Amino acid sequence: MKAALATKFGKPLIIGEVPTPEPAEGEVLIRIEACGVCHTDVHAVDGDWPVKPGLPFIPGHEGIGRVVSLGKGVKSIAVGDRVGVPWLLDACGLCDYCLTSRETLCGHARYGGYSANGGFAEFCTAPAAYVARIPQGLDPLHAGPIICAGVTTYKGLKVADCHPGEWVVISGAGGLGHLAIQYARVMGLQVAVVDVAEDKLALARSLGASLTVNASVDDPVKFMQDMIGGAHAVLVTAVSTDAFSQATGMLRRGGTCVLTGLPSGSFPISIFDTVLRCLTVRGSLVGTRADMREALAFAAAGKVRPAIEIMELEDVNTVMDRLRHGTLKGRAVLRIAHY
Ligand code: NAD
Ligand code: ZN
Ligand code: ZN
Repeated sequence: MKAALATKFGKPLIIGEVPTPEPAEGEVLIRIEACGVCHTDVHAVDGDWPVKPGLPFIPGHEGIGRVVSLGKGVKSIAVGDRVGVPWLLDACGLCDYCLTSRETLCGHARYGGYSANGGFAEFCTAPAAYVARIPQGLDPLHAGPIICAGVTTYKGLKVADCHPGEWVVISGAGGLGHLAIQYARVMGLQVAVVDVAEDKLALARSLGASLTVNASVDDPVKFMQDMIGGAHAVLVTAVSTDAFSQATGMLRRGGTCVLTGLPSGSFPISIFDTVLRCLTVRGSLVGTRADMREALAFAAAGKVRPAIEIMELEDVNTVMDRLRHGTLKGRAVLRIAHY
């Protein structure tokens, strides 16, 4: 099969022929139709994080396609079903987290396109119990971004502890952020957006953001405090430690800051400010299978729609470079098969 392979950190992916995988017990084999490109794929290929993927590997965790064969014992999925291979490839199913429907916290979880080969390929195997079931009527090109960018921001907003009518700031209006704006609007929140690129702020306004600020021109902390008295919640999706440093400053008292962006590094946080203003800061990682089902249902109902740029598998290195340089608007999705 054709695949895009990472062979060295920081180097372009190599597009070539590799053996088509066989589904192991409990797995399905999927013929990939489309796969979104997440900034996490850039972190994976660049070896940005403390825990690195084993080389060589095939990235991609927004792959959507039809099941073409079943491994031993698979009963929950039939050949021909359309599924997605997500970041949460599987989890142990037995630990305290798994038993309490918090499988994203499982210490034995495996990650699609990171700890196992992913969707930048014509075929991919995945454990049947964890694949995303793609609802009827949602095409693969638009389903792709939902199974990572969508579910991540949907879950991030769920744990942001804010209510209809309240203000949320979305920091970073890229692949994740442009979907976060739409989920926030569906949840009845008022949305303010921070980015450093004017075209992304224009997209944010077209998707329902009432306020936007360019952090490379204006101070977003002063802007949010002046305009709305600080937000009830901030969701950080930006790939910039500066954005993290600014995040809690945009909150009002008692507000919650949810971190989802994953630039390497750290950021300072004021103890006095956090304690005196009773702020909450929390991390959030993708979503559970239940979150996935909900996030996909909003997309299938047409309430959330990714802004996509359709590219070919051969374009993957160009897409990754544009993500590195912040010049990609919405989400790029690789069309891998015609359907
Ligand atoms: P992206 O490149 O599409 O979007 C990033 C956005 O941040 C861009 O619009 C960029 O202009 C903006 N930005 C850059 N500097 C900024 C600043 N100082 N202030 C505000 N905005 C700024 O990337 P993406 O695919 O949306 O991914 C975003 C991050 O989220 C990545 O680090 C990725 O690894 C991470 N991620 C985390 C999870 C999770 O489960 N927590 C899931 C998916 C992705
Ligand atoms: Zn992702
Ligand atoms: Zn577990």
